[in-house]
Amino acid sequence: RFSTLGRTRVFAPPRGPTTPFMLPAFLLSLASGEGGGNTHYFAPGNNHHDQVLLRFNASTLDAVQAVAGFEDAVPLFDYWTSPSLGSPFDVRVLASSVSEIRARLASHFVSVEVVVPDIQTLVDNEAAGRSSSRSNRWLPGEYHSTDQINTYFRDTAVPNYTHIASTFSIGTSTEGRDLQVVRITGGPKNTTCSYTPAPACKPSYNGKPAIWFQSTIHAREWLTGASAEVMVDKILKDYATDASIRQMVDSLDLYFLIIANPDGYEYSRETDRWWRKTRSPNAGSSCVGTDPNRNWAHRAWGGVPGSSTNPCSDVYHGSRAGSEPEVERIQQFVTQFGTEADGSSHFKLFIDYHTYSQMWLYPWGYLYSAAPHDDEHDALSAAAVAAIRGVHGKQYTYGPAASTIYVTTGDSTDWAYDPIEARPPTPDWAYIKHAYTIEGRDTGGYGFVAPASEIVPASEEIFAGLRAALRFAVPTNLPPSSPSPPTSPPAPPAPPPSPPPPVGAGSTCAAATSFGDAATESNSFSVVVPIAVGVSSPSYNPSQCVNTQFTGQDPVYWLKLEDVRPGVALELTACGFDTDLSIFRGSCDSLEQVACDGDSLDDEGSCSVSYGSLIDTVLPEAGVQYYIVLGGFNGDTGTATLTGTYAASSSPSPPPSPSPSPSPGPGPSPPPGEPLPICNGCNFAAGEYWNGVTCGTLEELLPPRICTACDYPTEVWNGQACVLLSDYVSPPASAGQADSL
Ligand SMILES: [Zn+2]
Repeated sequence: RFSTLGRTRVFAPPRGPTTPFMLPAFLLSLASGEGGGNTHYFAPGNNHHDQVLLRFNASTLDAVQAVAGFEDAVPLFDYWTSPSLGSPFDVRVLASSVSEIRARLASHFVSVEVVVPDIQTLVDNEAAGRSSSRSNRWLPGEYHSTDQINTYFRDTAVPNYTHIASTFSIGTSTEGRDLQVVRITGGPKNTTCSYTPAPACKPSYNGKPAIWFQSTIHAREWLTGASAEVMVDKILKDYATDASIRQMVDSLDLYFLIIANPDGYEYSRETDRWWRKTRSPNAGSSCVGTDPNRNWAHRAWGGVPGSSTNPCSDVYHGSRAGSEPEVERIQQFVTQFGTEADGSSHFKLFIDYHTYSQMWLYPWGYLYSAAPHDDEHDALSAAAVAAIRGVHGKQYTYGPAASTIYVTTGDSTDWAYDPIEARPPTPDWAYIKHAYTIEGRDTGGYGFVAPASEIVPASEEIFAGLRAALRFAVPTNLPPSSPSPPTSPPAPPAPPPSPPPPVGAGSTCAAATSFGDAATESNSFSVVVPIAVGVSSPSYNPSQCVNTQFTGQDPVYWLKLEDVRPGVALELTACGFDTDLSIFRGSCDSLEQVACDGDSLDDEGSCSVSYGSLIDTVLPEAGVQYYIVLGGFNGDTGTATLTGTYAASSSPSPPPSPSPSPSPGPGPSPPPGEPLPICNGCNFAAGEYWNGVTCGTLEELLPPRICTACDYPTEVWNGQACVLLSDYVSPPASAGQADSL
């Protein structure tokens, strides 16, 4: 079977077992900072020793509501992540408020934990990594100013690589700072753009798939720009020596806007470390700035909840869509770059890089329903987070933005996917089909204030994620994954196999070593082999290996199945480390891949480590030769144990039956037509149901967020068990509105 990673949607949550929930509108508006005049409280001298980062974990709506109530009740209540039901969220508060907060929440189902006891320690650690303002030497892994970044790429880095790179401005910010883009492509390019007036420069389409990558559109998310500049620098410097980077650059047209909100970023550097928005004035208000990630010209722009109408809010959507010059210039550049004959953009991938939470998110942000390309978004995201995990082991979650975090309106990826100015002719159309928001490092230990030591590792992860995304979004002419990401130490040498196979054994199909012995009657047989020697078949079929991070080009070991029992189910497992497994049939000069797997075995199965591989879908046929190719995750090498087990019966195994939907609750179903007491808060007459945590229409509760065992939409959760919709209550008039599934 295939890896289940892509199907489970939410996996390996970094904060423990979380289930994303929809919050009711009134809480979303609190989350949006509607009442928040206190977010940017300044301690005397802008010293943060009196501030802590609190982590709340609320398990009831009442508890979330009680936490949100502090926004107006204490002097400082700055959400670093949005309030959430059932998963932790972080808020910066005064240390002097903690005991009061704890006391007032004592009667609620919420835990309160101080995760950063002194915010100033984070600020001090970060400050140590700031490049000196007088330094004219650019060092990777420091926090630079907008001017240092722009100057470095324009005057130092790019001039050394004018055959592949150029810089230009797509316009200026409210305060007149350049929105400088670094363009990298092996094709023709325009290097003669002037800087004013904006937008003076418009590089033209050179026939190669274009990629847009932006970072630091939220001012306080410093790690994004800092790691993006290291990534861009690395691509330039490694072009000459790294064949896979050369192939990437030569086949694509890459655009990087490293500081997308330079005014806000400079304000965060110099005045208020926690500033998030732009710095544009707001008519009729003393509050400054618009949330540039609620300002995009998507049809949901201005929607509340999802943004705020209050200019003082951190999620203020602006006076109109595209009111912020930073947003408007990007929209204009991307739109004017041109489209294919079918109306889709020349840009094939759009990435907006934020911190923090370690998530890879895709449209929709404004809607809980799945976007038309949900399956492809999901598969790309799975590949990207697997690639990220392969660099430093960091776990990212992924999913549609609205249901994975919260509803946002007017965000960049909804716009890129479905812009107002290029409305789709068909429901299945997208302007840029692959548009993603990355929430990078970390999960709250540093929050927005990462020490500079995080910059290079973060850049390596984001680059691995970008490359995985490119392989998926632009499938032609793209490089295989590199055995090691840039600037990573080389992989540790594989331990010696025992016993060592003959030299050359396993390196090719023709040199495949024997696996199993037809003369024995044992149903199970194993071999230990080194995965380091060969490459896979030219017939390698990536479509069967989705999510495995195995490309067929990485080191493998070949085996030939000698014990073929026609019609008897064969299970193959590969343990030892994070292995990948594929099976071919035919002769060495004419092979057909029949199955592939990467991660189906965990350490509770027959492997001692996670992410072993398992294939149990093969029914060997008489007269057919089978070959087995063993590889490692993302090019990893090591020693693996391959085990084959035939089913005891000589008759073919029946196909596995779909797993039944167990009722998670112990209680029996209630009598039809009688709502349980626990459900009394739902307005049945208005078509609301209970999903275990909150009330909502059936459509709002889809996809199922609590009762994954219930078979929505025919079954729903009644507070104790999954029951047929018809048994829940008298079906309300709107019960049939489940077409968003
Ligand atoms: Zn952000």
